[in-house]
Amino acid sequence: MSEYQHILVACDYSAQSLEVAAKAKAIADKQQAKLSLLHVLDNIAMPDTAYGTVIYLDRVSDNQPLEDEKAKLKEFARQLEIAPSDCWLIWGNPKQEIVQLAEQQAVDLIVVGSHGRHGLALLLGSTANAVLHYAKCDVLAVRLQDK
Ligand code: AMP
Repeated sequence: MSEYQHILVACDYSAQSLEVAAKAKAIADKQQAKLSLLHVLDNIAMPDTAYGTVIYLDRVSDNQPLEDEKAKLKEFARQLEIAPSDCWLIWGNPKQEIVQLAEQQAVDLIVVGSHGRHGLALLLGSTANAVLHYAKCDVLAVRLQDK
């Protein structure tokens, strides 16, 4: 039996997010694990969907910002050869949504990027820190070099 069966990679589209996701994919391929991709929408107003805060990629809306976000996630997933059915677009707070989806989907490894932080940024905490504290499964924090 493989060590991990379901890996979730959280992507924020920052410069190094493809690198983080590629690392998650390499682990998933090696372990023959399922790989899911999540982007949490925290930069647009709460979209009006009939399905709560989960935004389904295959349901077309007349909300252009939302359609743009769907296209962005699909393109990111295409580059990593992740099927759209394994992609999640959820409106909310990244820290909470990453941990919650991992629990709901029986994820056993979460992969996130992690910046070296100092001073106030360290005090305020990062997504990686919060996920590490609250997740019930293993977490891999991929160190991002601030370029
Ligand atoms: P941060 O330290 O908060 O800048 O983010 C570190 C990592 O958290 C990123 O590399 C992602 O893996 C994850 N993350 C941050 N924001 C989001 C988001 N909106 N959706 C999905 N993952 C995110």
